[in-house]
Amino acid sequence: MNNPKTNLPALDADEILAGVLSWVEIESPSHDGKAVNVMVDQVENEARTMGLEIERTPGRDGFGDILRCRTPWGHGEGEGGPGILILSHLDTVHPIGIKETKNPIRREDDKVYGPGIYDMKAGAYIALHAMRHLIREGRQTPLPVTFMFIPEEEIGSPTSKAMIAEEGQKNKYVLVTEPAREGGKIVTARNGRLQYDIKVKGVPAHAGARHMDGRSAIREMAHIILKLEALTDYEKGQTCSVGIIEGGTLTNVVPEDCTISVDIRIPDMEAAEEVMAFVEGLQPEDPDCTITVEGGVDRPPYEKFEGIEKLFEHAKACAAEIGFELQDLKTGGGSDGNFTGALGIPTLDGLGADGHGAHSNDEYIYYSSLVERCRLMIRLMETLD
Ligand SMILES: [Zn+2]
Repeated sequence: MNNPKTNLPALDADEILAGVLSWVEIESPSHDGKAVNVMVDQVENEARTMGLEIERTPGRDGFGDILRCRTPWGHGEGEGGPGILILSHLDTVHPIGIKETKNPIRREDDKVYGPGIYDMKAGAYIALHAMRHLIREGRQTPLPVTFMFIPEEEIGSPTSKAMIAEEGQKNKYVLVTEPAREGGKIVTARNGRLQYDIKVKGVPAHAGARHMDGRSAIREMAHIILKLEALTDYEKGQTCSVGIIEGGTLTNVVPEDCTISVDIRIPDMEAAEEVMAFVEGLQPEDPDCTITVEGGVDRPPYEKFEGIEKLFEHAKACAAEIGFELQDLKTGGGSDGNFTGALGIPTLDGLGADGHGAHSNDEYIYYSSLVERCRLMIRLMETLD
């Protein structure tokens, strides 16, 4: 990792903001593949204009396309070798229309609001802009750089995770442009995530006349929910949330079916295995009910191993040179960085803009963080080797 003392070129915060906002204007909820692809078109056009090599893989199962953009240098045979993978997602959790209703796009002093601006249109834009800046200056990075834009990260990257792992393994470093945390902190370890769909089959009956013949699937599920939620242990960094429940048909029928979807976060693989054994071994309280469990590891956990520690120290030195102190943390949330971190590829996450309110209708970034974060990305790209 060399550290050339070059003059830092001027970056224009207003130009970056205009670019970020043009991306926020294109609303792109994960489940709306067509809307996400409008966003993919935009990024593809920008990357093409910059001279990057484009590879676009058609989406599956109604999701948007996966876009990879590579520097024209360093990817040829015998060139460069493993490089830098920059992972961003172009989808958001927000349904279409939020930009005019619940979180209108607007600037209030240092805060710039808009759906998905913080998670993570700003981060994705900053990374691409950092490369645009280097290209404008006529410079190349020591390592080849691949940008990968994911269309469905917010629902766990079901159609892209295999490709993320595959691309990760071709690279030496992975930089993820998820939002910065708590005053600009980046992420060097992440909890893993388990996802389960659990079904209970009971016995239907008239809720009045033949109550005794019925076996309520909802009642049975209530026991299961309490057992699952009891897995939560904040000290251990483990949480369980039953996020969706469906069941029953009419109030005068003892319900035959009940289904839940469950989100469990675990700090390490050991905890994951314990929880998996527990969930997969759930037994009904009422022997006439049956339980079906589907699911498992959605995103594996990763710790701050030596390669991440080194990469973080390098990023910290870059930040100090730019003029700010870079701190790191472990977070309970998952990202596409889990797939590469868990494979042992040095991964830094949370390199996006600083701000607040991911997934809420109060989502904003700090205008003042744009240039700083862009400069950090530039320095990482031009010093990692
Ligand atoms: Zn995100």
